[in-house]
Order: sequence, then C-alpha cells, then structure tokens
Amino acid sequence: MSKFFSSKYSELEPYVPGEQPKDMQYIKLNTNESPFPPSAKAVRAAAEAAELLNLYSDPESADLTQTVADYFGLKKENVLMTNGSDEILNFAFMAFCDSGTPAVFADITYGFYPVFARVNNLPFREIPLKDNFKIDINDYINAKGTVFIANPNAPTSILLPVKDLIKVIEGNPDNIVVVDEAYIDFGGESCVPLVNEYENLLVTRTFSKSRSLAGARLGMGIACAGLINDLNTVKYSTNPYNVNRMTAAAGIGAMSDEEYTAANCRYIEKCRDNTAKELRALGFEMPDSKTNFLFARHPRIPGIKVYEYLRENGILVRHFGKEKISDYNRITVGTQEQMETMISVLRKMTEELI
Ligand code: PMP
Repeated sequence: MSKFFSSKYSELEPYVPGEQPKDMQYIKLNTNESPFPPSAKAVRAAAEAAELLNLYSDPESADLTQTVADYFGLKKENVLMTNGSDEILNFAFMAFCDSGTPAVFADITYGFYPVFARVNNLPFREIPLKDNFKIDINDYINAKGTVFIANPNAPTSILLPVKDLIKVIEGNPDNIVVVDEAYIDFGGESCVPLVNEYENLLVTRTFSKSRSLAGARLGMGIACAGLINDLNTVKYSTNPYNVNRMTAAAGIGAMSDEEYTAANCRYIEKCRDNTAKELRALGFEMPDSKTNFLFARHPRIPGIKVYEYLRENGILVRHFGKEKISDYNRITVGTQEQMETMISVLRKMTEELI
C-alpha cells in the first residue's frame, strides 16, 4: 500500500477472481464460463460495431435495452444494462444501502457482496446457511436491510423456488430484495415476471454464463420503473457509457439467437447431471445443482488435495479457503469430453489416495 492510498480503504480486501494462469493449457473449470463460443450472430455484430469505435457508445444502450425488454415482455423503463452483472450489483449497494440500511446476505454466497459493501463503506450482516447449505427463508423475513440472494446460490448451486422468494419479498415491504439470477438459465424459475407486482424487487442477470459473453461484460437489472430510475441516477453519476459499442451489439446478436442459447443450456444441464452421477459413484457428495457448476467434496480426501491433484493433471477448478466450505471444490460444467477427462483423473486420484 502506498502512503497515498486513502485510509478509508486500509481494511479493504478486494475480490479475488478465479485464476487465469498462463503457464500451460488447462481445462478451465474454475470461473463458470461457458465452454461454447458466443453465437456467430453476436460475434458478427460486435465486429461490425468495432468500425464505429471512434464514437462513444449510446449511454442508454437503447436498442439493446428494448431488445431485452421485449424478450421479457416488459418496457424499456424496467431494464438497465450494465458492465457485467457485477456493475448492477454494485449500483444496488450504492443506491439501496446506507448506514441505517445494511446489506443482508448469506455467509456462503457470491464473494463479491461483502466487497461491494466494504468499498462503499456500508454495513452488512451475514446470515449463516443451514447445515445442508440451504437458505432458510424465515431468516430473511423482516431482515431490516437490503437483502441480496443469489438464486441459484453460488457456490452451493442450490435453487430456491419462486414461492419462497415471494415470501422474502413480501416479508420486507420497506426494503429492497435483490435476486441475483446469474445462473437461472440452467433449470431455475425466474423472478423477472414479478417485477411490476413488487416495487421492492430488483432482479439481476448476466450474459456471462448462458450466453457465452463473459469477456464482453454484459449484465442487467430488471425492476419496476422507479427502481431503475434510482439505479440510473447512480449510473449517470459514475459511468454513463458503461456498456461499450461492441458489447451492446454482441448482446443484441446473442438475443437474436435464442435457439443457440437454449440448446447450450440443455446440453450443460444434461452434462451436469451425468457428471454428478459419475462423481457420486466415485464417492463425492454434492447438493443437487441447478447451475452450470457442481459443488463437490470427497469425505475422505481434503478439498485442497482434490484441487491440487486436478491442477497437476491440467484441470483447474475453484477451491475456497473459507472454513465452512474448505472441503469442497466448485467445478464448472464444461463439455462432455472435458467432464470425462476430469472423471478419469479423479478416478485415478481415488485409487491412489484411498
Ligand atoms: N453473481 C454471481 C452469483 C456470480 O457468480 C457472478 C460471477 N461469476 C456474478 C454475479 C457476476 O457475473 P458478471 O459480472 O460476469 O455478470
């Protein structure tokens, strides 16, 4: 830390993204990316948009916003496009939390939530998950703060039904409930249809997973017009041109190829369920996943050992040091071939280490 760094950040622990090593070619199953390339329509649109990079992007991302609004059967006033869903989440912390309104979220959830709270100097309260990693929604009724729930949750992969989320939304009429649906396209039911019914609901989504655009950085917030208006005030006070031209074009291209997205999601779901079966046959335990990853542990091999063994064999997964989950690894679902390679390495591991 230099002597110039503001003391307000002296305690700040930044978010640690998954490794992107350059030392060799790994099978990369550590950052929940899609194994499939973006839609050819997205790539073509981005390339065309590159011709106009001398001009600023449209601060309203009007065409993209309208495309997304039409897709969900909403108005463009219900949608705000952002630089990844990380940006809309940060905007939500900025807009809807303050010293009297803490952020409230699970102790095991997306690791960026406490970082967003800290960087914005906001109080937060973590609610422990139950022993089976489930969220008990009763813990979130009258939470006295802005609630953030990743649904499905990460890294646990567990989905809550919409009827439970409705209880949370109705149980906090004077506070915002943010439902982070980064992984909803892999078998979950969305809260988006509820946004005009509940003035305190904000749903966040991303193009990073199901639409294969993690590198483009495109996300969104979906809510009633009043909340989107608040979030726009924050956006225009930080970065009006938050979505660049190529990304906006790629987003429209991706949305025009929904068959491709749907086929990829069904592939990942099938591959996920097959892989879970094979892992269980090797003795691994894991919750039922409704995401594009599995959260697995072996009762007889420490999580860090599994991580290291896979890494030595050219496969990267995500291991979290946090005590409650240090037995586990988060494994992104890739192609069937990648999963077969991983299973054969893990079979060898269990034969050697047990
Ligand atoms: N929410 C959750 C639960 C995530 O796991 C992630 C990242 N993997 C994000 C939001 C942010 O994704 P992005 O910024 O790529 O949209």
